Amino acid sequence: MNDDNKDVNKKETFDFIRTVIEDDLKTNKHDGRVHTRFPPEPNGCLHIGHAKAFGLDFGIAEEYNGKCNLRFDDTNPTKEDVEYVDSIKADIQWLGFSWDDREFYASDYFDKLYDYAVQLIKLGKAYVCDLTSDEIRSYRGTLTEPGKESPYRTRSIEENLELFQKMKNGDFEDGAKTLRAKIDMTSPNLNMRDPVIFRIIHTSHHRTGDKWCIYPMYDYTHCLSDSIEEITHSLCSLEFEDHRPLYDWFLDELNVYHPQQIEFARLNITYTILSKRKLLRLVEENHVAGWDDPRMPTLSAMKRRGYTPEAINDFVNRIGIGKRNSIVDIEFLEHCLREDLNKRAPRVMGVLKPLKVIITNYPEDKEEELDAINNPEDPEGGTHKVPFSRELYIEQGDFMEDAPKKFYRLTQGREVRFRYAYFITCVDVIKDDDGNIIELHCTYDPETRGGNAPDGRKSKATLHWVSVKHAEKAEVRLYKHLFTKPNPEEVEEGKDFISNLNPDSLETLNDCYIEPSINKFVPGDIVQFERLGYFCIDSVDSNSDKLVFNRTVTLRDEWARIQKKNKKS
Ligand code: ATP
Ligand code: MG
Repeated sequence: MNDDNKDVNKKETFDFIRTVIEDDLKTNKHDGRVHTRFPPEPNGCLHIGHAKAFGLDFGIAEEYNGKCNLRFDDTNPTKEDVEYVDSIKADIQWLGFSWDDREFYASDYFDKLYDYAVQLIKLGKAYVCDLTSDEIRSYRGTLTEPGKESPYRTRSIEENLELFQKMKNGDFEDGAKTLRAKIDMTSPNLNMRDPVIFRIIHTSHHRTGDKWCIYPMYDYTHCLSDSIEEITHSLCSLEFEDHRPLYDWFLDELNVYHPQQIEFARLNITYTILSKRKLLRLVEENHVAGWDDPRMPTLSAMKRRGYTPEAINDFVNRIGIGKRNSIVDIEFLEHCLREDLNKRAPRVMGVLKPLKVIITNYPEDKEEELDAINNPEDPEGGTHKVPFSRELYIEQGDFMEDAPKKFYRLTQGREVRFRYAYFITCVDVIKDDDGNIIELHCTYDPETRGGNAPDGRKSKATLHWVSVKHAEKAEVRLYKHLFTKPNPEEVEEGKDFISNLNPDSLETLNDCYIEPSINKFVPGDIVQFERLGYFCIDSVDSNSDKLVFNRTVTLRDEWARIQKKNKKS
């Protein structure tokens, strides 16, 4: 990917969708209008793939001074839920987009869609079919074999009208009959082999209640909803390309306003599943703690983990759009996140795996307030105070007994800098009866306050620390990829993506200590723990008694490494 060029050239070279729109504007195709829509099905929460789709729908509308509708594609009452409607709306708003007052539902059009179906019957272009769904499937044929016509295909228009009316009135059981388009059972495109347009489902709908027991199918509903709303450019992902002839067929046969469907490649990311159906399985089978488990690629989970709308929008814009399916490295997403957090996240010190240090020559009751920089990336960011005292926590990993040469951090007899504080020398290692290190006895040099030696001597390492008696205790959750393989769909025979779940994707640390300035932050805030990474105060499990952090992302930029490797090869 060469995203730098894309940014620079954005104004001059348009992607293939914007090229179509530019041409349409030149020829005044839709009276110079640009009107898009985002059509989620409320059967799950949105994921980052949807952010790419609606970023495009809303983004293009904004760029061309047009409009973008939010339309819930709620044609399947057995799978949909109002709860998802609310979460979808919250996610879109979170990323900064607005549909103003244009919140629509496919179910608002059920009456019209029924009337259109009656019209198709009258045109001899639709018929009521008694085949079961299994029979319909076996009559359909395959990619290499033509389909077989239904024996009900030749019903008279009058009979079809009467039967369709009875379907609507509830005279038949679920599955007993369908209404099908009469197109071509020999078409090389399977979608054109007399697709079902209405089916019987005796289930209450979250908006229309028990008014309907027949529900329209997606392909039929989608194009006509676009037409009713006078959408100009109907953008959708590549898997709908084969459905476009059907989209066009309905609109042409009914001779109604005809939007243009344009397909683009879906977003795929390594180590990630982007399919609502599969994400639902993770939730239902308790492989994760819910749709907003911070390991999930849903927008609600990413928000909870500490992703910012800016980072997500930046990522979506930089990957651009294409016509061919490809897979984006998850490291690039994390890179976009780090770039944003680096600019804005306040720095604090926190110790995740504590080791106690006692400064033996520091007075027992003495305390000092030292100055710590809020954000070195922000010249106006200012400073805050951190308390220092005789007993401190440092990271277990920052001390090593009998350290090898390349280990520059603390070991017996060595002096290192404690950030913002003093030069500290390790004198003694205290162990329990089993030989485990329980604390370190150190001394400090009072002349080095602030972390600078007046004689100019240097330290190869600067460690972070927290004063024991001032520390806030916290729980910290560390995350790794949810799947062990770059492509989680790559499985052994007889297995599915569940077999690629990473058993170590969550590590919970219960005994972490954070400097007291953390108290000015609230759930949802993101900070950098110096040297460790970015962490977000969990907005679900934190409360006045318990401080819980999610590790948003580590500090190490793997994307830079991958790019270097790619350049070499
Ligand atoms: P899933 O396969 O995850 O269940 P979906 O396509 O069925 O997704 P919808 O709610 O019907 O989910 O999708 C709304 C819109 O979002 C559609 O236009 C769809 O093409 C688009 N979309 C879904 N997933 C992606 C993705 N990974 N990348 C880009 N666009 C996507
Ligand atoms: Mg769908």
